[in-house]
Amino acid sequence: MNDFGVRQVDAVVVGAGQAGLSAAHFLHRAGLAADRDFVVLDHAPRPGGAWQFRWPSLTWEKAHGVHDLPGMRLHGADPAQPASEVVSRYFADYERAFDLRVRRPVDVRRVREGAGGRLLVETDAGVWSARALINATGTWERPFVPHYPGRELFEGRQLHTADYRGPEEFAGARVVVVGGGTSAVQLLIEIADVAAATTWVTRRPPVFREEAFDTELGRAAVARVEERVRRGLPPQSVVGVTGLYATDAVRAARERGVLERLPVFDRITARGVAWDDGREVAADVILWATGFRASLAHLAPLRLREPGGGVRLEGTRAVRDPRVHLVGYGPSASTIGANRAGRAAVREVLALLAEQREGPRVPGDRAPVPA
Ligand SMILES: Cc1cc2nc3c(=O)[nH]c(=O)nc-3n(C[C@H](O)[C@H](O)[C@H](O)COP(=O)(O)OP(=O)(O)OC[C@H]3O[C@@H](n4cnc5c(N)ncnc54)[C@H](O)[C@@H]3O)c2cc1C
Repeated sequence: MNDFGVRQVDAVVVGAGQAGLSAAHFLHRAGLAADRDFVVLDHAPRPGGAWQFRWPSLTWEKAHGVHDLPGMRLHGADPAQPASEVVSRYFADYERAFDLRVRRPVDVRRVREGAGGRLLVETDAGVWSARALINATGTWERPFVPHYPGRELFEGRQLHTADYRGPEEFAGARVVVVGGGTSAVQLLIEIADVAAATTWVTRRPPVFREEAFDTELGRAAVARVEERVRRGLPPQSVVGVTGLYATDAVRAARERGVLERLPVFDRITARGVAWDDGREVAADVILWATGFRASLAHLAPLRLREPGGGVRLEGTRAVRDPRVHLVGYGPSASTIGANRAGRAAVREVLALLAEQREGPRVPGDRAPVPA
């Protein structure tokens, strides 16, 4: 700590979800000690990243496609248990096993330029000064709702996926679900069992994949998002560009007509939604399953955003500030992407730290990277 109460570290990791824990793991493996050489800050009350807030009816078996964190398997999870509980327990074990010493709840308010080429990380629990920052703040806290005319006129209830707690509260209601992603489909299937009526609207006709998610399809989806991020555009969701996997539950719901889809309405009225061709659907609830945006407000002083609205990245490194890495952002916003991004970011952070200590490296020379 310096004379002004600022704690000095090599790196700060903001966020302890899949991406932040992966980064912390690789820093630890490279020989850096938590709370001495690096610190992990998270403002959530418990381990689990955003998973701790997922709705209780999202059980472990429904959350297919969740990858283990690097270096420790998740064993013996009960498929019927809420994914929020399974992941929170696993992350807590992981943090202990690798002595990651996540500091929580600590809210990172602002990251700005400090003296001597360092970054100042200002929080509600003091200030850290770092040579590098790995940002892993996810998207959960920035639910996105698109604008449609008349939204403020609607007399029923509007909520976003992030507010959903389970189907019970929709018993007997007429529900319009907006959005073409996996969450929309999962919530529709649950709600249709208890609601008086459901209506599904999406911008584009949904594409159902009969085959399981294969790696080629996954790679192509990631490449598309990567390309946008390289151009400084706001990323799309990786899951959003892969199409919808037709599980048994999805197939059954299609047969029952639950997944009949309409194009998005043109406006919202006091009592429902309406199309310009004269169609109307009465509704008590509009459920916006319309995705999330990256939580990056605390990085605003660093001016990382491009005119296109996104942060341009080379790998995980911000093109406008090589001390800053975004993990779990854009192409790495999946559990497997977050794992890889954590490792890639640490590789570059180690090279940057070595460069600062020893002077520039010879081109092509690589940092001692954790295997
Ligand atoms: C409903 C839903 C289901 C999903 N299912 C899957 C799936 O089955 N498979 C899959 O691969 N992906 C899935 N995803 C994508 C998923 O979000 C990512 O895969 C991954 O879990 C995100 O990890 P993360 O570390 O990037 O972010 P998060 O898990 O969101 O972690 C971010 C952390 O940063 C902290 N934080 C944020 N801002 C601050 C701040 N200013 N100061 C301090 N701390 C802060 C938060 O408290 C949080 O703990 C799903 C997403 C959603 C929304």
